[in-house]
Amino acid sequence: MNDDNSPAARRPAPKSENLYTVQSRVGRQSRAVQNGHTGGILWLTGLSASGKSTLALALEQRLFERGYQTYVLDGDNVRQGLNSDLGFSPQDRNENIRRVGEVAALFADSGSIVITAFISPYQADRDLARAAAPGLFHEVYVDASLAACEERDPKGLYSRARRGEIPEFTGVSAPYQEPKAPELVINTEDASVVESVEQLVEYVVERFAAEVLEPQAA
Ligand code: ADP
Repeated sequence: MNDDNSPAARRPAPKSENLYTVQSRVGRQSRAVQNGHTGGILWLTGLSASGKSTLALALEQRLFERGYQTYVLDGDNVRQGLNSDLGFSPQDRNENIRRVGEVAALFADSGSIVITAFISPYQADRDLARAAAPGLFHEVYVDASLAACEERDPKGLYSRARRGEIPEFTGVSAPYQEPKAPELVINTEDASVVESVEQLVEYVVERFAAEVLEPQAA
Protein backbone atom coordinates (compact mmCIF):
# COMPACT_ATOMS: atom_id res chain seq x y z
CA MET A 1 0.00 0.00 0.00
CA ASN A 2 2.51 2.60 1.11
CA ASP A 3 5.82 0.84 0.79
CA ASP A 4 7.30 2.98 -1.98
CA ASN A 5 9.69 4.64 0.40
CA SER A 6 10.15 1.71 2.74
CA PRO A 7 13.48 1.91 4.50
CA ALA A 8 15.84 -1.01 4.74
CA ALA A 9 15.19 -1.25 8.49
CA ARG A 10 15.02 -4.78 9.81
CA ARG A 11 13.57 -5.99 13.09
CA PRO A 12 16.25 -7.65 15.19
CA ALA A 13 16.34 -11.43 14.99
CA PRO A 14 14.60 -13.12 17.94
CA LYS A 15 16.76 -14.35 20.80
CA SER A 16 14.93 -17.68 20.97
CA GLU A 17 15.29 -20.49 18.50
CA ASN A 18 12.71 -23.09 17.52
CA LEU A 19 9.96 -20.55 16.92
CA TYR A 20 7.14 -21.46 14.55
CA THR A 21 4.88 -18.79 13.15
CA VAL A 22 1.21 -19.49 13.86
CA GLN A 23 -1.08 -18.53 11.01
CA SER A 24 -4.50 -17.13 11.96
CA ARG A 25 -7.50 -18.60 10.13
CA VAL A 26 -9.05 -15.15 9.97
CA GLY A 27 -7.43 -13.28 7.09
CA ARG A 28 -6.77 -9.59 6.79
CA GLN A 29 -9.27 -9.29 3.98
CA SER A 30 -12.03 -10.96 6.03
CA ARG A 31 -11.40 -8.59 8.91
CA ALA A 32 -11.48 -5.59 6.56
CA VAL A 33 -14.77 -6.71 5.01
CA GLN A 34 -16.35 -7.25 8.45
CA ASN A 35 -15.11 -3.91 9.79
CA GLY A 36 -15.73 -1.93 6.60
CA HIS A 37 -12.15 -0.66 6.58
CA THR A 38 -8.59 -1.95 6.64
CA GLY A 39 -6.38 -1.99 9.72
CA GLY A 40 -3.32 0.17 9.95
CA ILE A 41 -1.18 2.54 11.95
CA LEU A 42 -1.25 6.32 11.93
CA TRP A 43 2.10 7.07 13.52
CA LEU A 44 1.97 10.66 14.76
CA THR A 45 5.44 12.09 15.36
CA GLY A 46 6.50 15.61 16.28
CA LEU A 47 7.86 17.80 19.03
CA SER A 48 6.27 17.94 22.46
CA ALA A 49 3.23 20.25 22.23
CA SER A 50 3.08 19.95 18.43
CA GLY A 51 -0.44 18.54 18.82
CA LYS A 52 -0.07 14.74 18.68
CA SER A 53 -2.28 13.85 21.65
CA THR A 54 -4.88 16.49 20.84
CA LEU A 55 -5.20 15.23 17.28
CA ALA A 56 -4.99 11.54 18.18
CA LEU A 57 -7.85 11.77 20.70
CA ALA A 58 -10.03 13.92 18.46
CA LEU A 59 -9.41 11.64 15.49
CA GLU A 60 -10.19 8.53 17.54
CA GLN A 61 -13.50 10.04 18.62
CA ARG A 62 -14.43 11.10 15.07
CA LEU A 63 -13.56 7.70 13.61
CA PHE A 64 -15.35 5.82 16.39
CA GLU A 65 -18.52 7.84 15.72
CA ARG A 66 -18.28 6.79 12.08
CA GLY A 67 -18.09 3.11 13.08
CA TYR A 68 -14.35 2.55 12.77
CA GLN A 69 -12.44 0.15 15.05
CA THR A 70 -9.84 2.52 16.44
CA TYR A 71 -7.60 3.01 19.46
CA VAL A 72 -5.00 5.51 20.65
CA LEU A 73 -1.62 4.50 22.04
CA ASP A 74 -0.25 7.56 23.84
CA GLY A 75 3.29 8.07 25.09
CA ASP A 76 2.50 9.14 28.63
CA ASN A 77 -0.02 6.30 29.11
CA VAL A 78 2.25 3.58 27.76
CA ARG A 79 5.10 4.82 29.94
CA GLN A 80 2.91 4.16 32.99
CA GLY A 81 2.35 0.52 32.05
CA LEU A 82 4.09 -1.57 29.41
CA ASN A 83 7.09 0.78 29.36
CA SER A 84 7.20 1.83 33.02
CA ASP A 85 10.75 0.47 33.19
CA LEU A 86 12.02 2.93 30.56
CA GLY A 87 13.35 6.48 30.83
CA PHE A 88 14.46 9.02 28.23
CA SER A 89 18.05 8.00 27.47
CA PRO A 90 18.63 7.28 23.77
CA GLN A 91 18.62 3.51 24.48
CA ASP A 92 15.38 3.69 26.46
CA ARG A 93 13.78 5.83 23.77
CA ASN A 94 14.77 3.18 21.20
CA GLU A 95 13.21 0.42 23.30
CA ASN A 96 10.11 2.50 24.04
CA ILE A 97 9.42 2.96 20.34
CA ARG A 98 10.38 -0.62 19.44
CA ARG A 99 7.78 -2.02 21.86
CA VAL A 100 5.12 0.45 20.78
CA GLY A 101 5.83 -0.37 17.13
CA GLU A 102 5.29 -4.06 17.82
CA VAL A 103 2.09 -3.45 19.81
CA ALA A 104 0.78 -1.13 17.09
CA ALA A 105 1.56 -3.80 14.48
CA LEU A 106 -0.57 -6.32 16.40
CA PHE A 107 -3.47 -3.85 16.63
CA ALA A 108 -3.19 -3.14 12.91
CA ASP A 109 -3.10 -6.85 12.09
CA SER A 110 -6.24 -7.32 14.20
CA GLY A 111 -8.01 -4.89 11.86
CA SER A 112 -7.95 -1.78 14.04
CA ILE A 113 -6.78 1.65 13.08
CA VAL A 114 -4.28 2.43 15.79
CA ILE A 115 -3.25 6.04 16.27
CA THR A 116 0.05 6.48 18.10
CA ALA A 117 1.11 9.72 19.77
CA PHE A 118 4.82 9.54 20.56
CA ILE A 119 7.52 12.14 19.96
CA SER A 120 9.59 9.26 18.47
CA PRO A 121 12.48 11.62 17.66
CA TYR A 122 14.74 9.20 15.76
CA GLN A 123 14.11 8.28 12.13
CA ALA A 124 15.72 4.86 12.65
CA ASP A 125 13.21 4.02 15.41
CA ARG A 126 10.29 5.07 13.24
CA ASP A 127 11.70 3.02 10.38
CA LEU A 128 11.85 0.01 12.69
CA ALA A 129 8.21 0.53 13.67
CA ARG A 130 7.38 0.67 9.96
CA ALA A 131 9.27 -2.56 9.40
CA ALA A 132 7.13 -4.25 12.08
CA ALA A 133 3.97 -3.54 10.05
CA PRO A 134 4.79 -3.72 6.34
CA GLY A 135 2.19 -1.96 4.21
CA LEU A 136 0.17 -0.85 7.24
CA PHE A 137 2.31 2.02 8.51
CA HIS A 138 1.51 5.67 7.83
CA GLU A 139 3.99 8.17 9.20
CA VAL A 140 2.24 11.44 10.03
CA TYR A 141 4.45 14.41 10.79
CA VAL A 142 2.66 16.74 13.21
CA ASP A 143 4.65 19.78 12.24
CA ALA A 144 5.02 22.84 14.45
CA SER A 145 8.23 24.77 14.97
CA LEU A 146 10.10 24.63 18.23
CA ALA A 147 9.26 28.32 18.75
CA ALA A 148 5.53 27.61 18.36
CA CYS A 149 5.67 24.61 20.67
CA GLU A 150 7.53 26.60 23.31
CA GLU A 151 4.99 29.36 23.00
CA ARG A 152 2.15 26.86 23.59
CA ASP A 153 3.89 24.90 26.32
CA PRO A 154 0.57 23.48 27.66
CA LYS A 155 2.25 21.45 30.39
CA GLY A 156 5.00 23.96 31.21
CA LEU A 157 7.60 21.38 30.19
CA TYR A 158 9.64 23.65 27.92
CA SER A 159 10.13 26.29 30.60
CA ARG A 160 11.16 23.59 33.05
CA ALA A 161 13.54 22.09 30.47
CA ARG A 162 15.05 25.55 29.82
CA ARG A 163 15.64 25.90 33.54
CA GLY A 164 17.52 22.60 33.41
CA GLU A 165 14.88 20.73 35.44
CA ILE A 166 14.17 18.12 32.74
CA PRO A 167 17.20 16.43 31.21
CA GLU A 168 17.22 15.13 27.64
CA PHE A 169 14.16 17.10 26.59
CA THR A 170 13.47 16.88 22.86
CA GLY A 171 14.12 20.15 21.04
CA VAL A 172 15.95 21.65 24.03
CA SER A 173 18.63 19.19 25.10
CA ALA A 174 17.87 16.16 22.91
CA PRO A 175 17.51 15.98 19.12
CA TYR A 176 14.41 15.65 16.95
CA GLN A 177 14.92 14.21 13.48
CA GLU A 178 12.23 15.42 11.07
CA PRO A 179 10.60 12.63 9.03
CA LYS A 180 12.36 12.14 5.70
CA ALA A 181 9.38 10.88 3.72
CA PRO A 182 6.17 10.96 5.78
CA GLU A 183 2.91 9.82 4.18
CA LEU A 184 1.19 12.92 5.58
CA VAL A 185 2.24 16.27 7.08
CA ILE A 186 -0.16 18.19 9.31
CA ASN A 187 1.08 21.71 9.92
CA THR A 188 -0.55 22.64 13.21
CA GLU A 189 0.87 26.16 13.14
CA ASP A 190 -1.11 27.11 10.06
CA ALA A 191 -4.26 25.09 10.74
CA SER A 192 -6.70 24.99 13.65
CA VAL A 193 -7.37 21.80 15.61
CA VAL A 194 -10.66 21.33 13.75
CA GLU A 195 -8.99 21.75 10.35
CA SER A 196 -6.14 19.41 11.28
CA VAL A 197 -8.56 16.69 12.43
CA GLU A 198 -10.53 17.11 9.23
CA GLN A 199 -7.35 16.53 7.19
CA LEU A 200 -6.71 13.32 9.12
CA VAL A 201 -10.29 12.06 8.77
CA GLU A 202 -10.15 12.63 5.00
CA TYR A 203 -6.89 10.72 4.81
CA VAL A 204 -8.32 7.76 6.73
CA VAL A 205 -11.54 7.63 4.69
CA GLU A 206 -9.50 7.56 1.50
CA ARG A 207 -6.62 5.30 2.52
CA PHE A 208 -8.33 2.77 4.82
CA ALA A 209 -11.31 1.90 2.66
CA ALA A 210 -11.90 -1.88 2.65
CA GLU A 211 -11.49 -2.02 -1.13
CA VAL A 212 -7.94 -0.64 -0.88
CA LEU A 213 -6.80 -4.19 -0.09
CA GLU A 214 -6.06 -6.49 -2.99
CA PRO A 215 -8.86 -9.12 -3.23
CA GLN A 216 -6.37 -12.00 -2.89
CA ALA A 217 -4.54 -10.51 0.10
CA ALA A 218 -6.57 -12.53 2.60
P1 ADP B 1 1.77 16.71 22.09
O1 ADP B 1 0.89 15.52 22.31
O2 ADP B 1 2.35 16.75 20.70
O3 ADP B 1 2.79 16.91 23.15
P2 ADP B 1 -0.55 18.25 22.86
O4 ADP B 1 -1.64 17.71 21.97
O5 ADP B 1 -0.47 17.75 24.28
O6 ADP B 1 0.85 18.02 22.11
O7 ADP B 1 -0.61 19.83 22.93
C1 ADP B 1 -0.76 20.61 21.74
C2 ADP B 1 -1.30 22.00 22.07
O8 ADP B 1 -1.37 22.77 20.88
C3 ADP B 1 -2.71 21.95 22.65
O9 ADP B 1 -2.81 22.92 23.66
C4 ADP B 1 -3.58 22.34 21.43
O10 ADP B 1 -4.80 22.95 21.80
C5 ADP B 1 -2.67 23.30 20.68
N1 ADP B 1 -2.95 23.38 19.23
C6 ADP B 1 -3.09 24.54 18.50
N2 ADP B 1 -3.33 24.28 17.22
C7 ADP B 1 -3.35 22.93 17.08
C8 ADP B 1 -3.58 22.06 15.97
N3 ADP B 1 -3.82 22.49 14.73
N4 ADP B 1 -3.54 20.73 16.21
C9 ADP B 1 -3.28 20.25 17.45
N5 ADP B 1 -3.06 21.03 18.54
C10 ADP B 1 -3.10 22.37 18.37
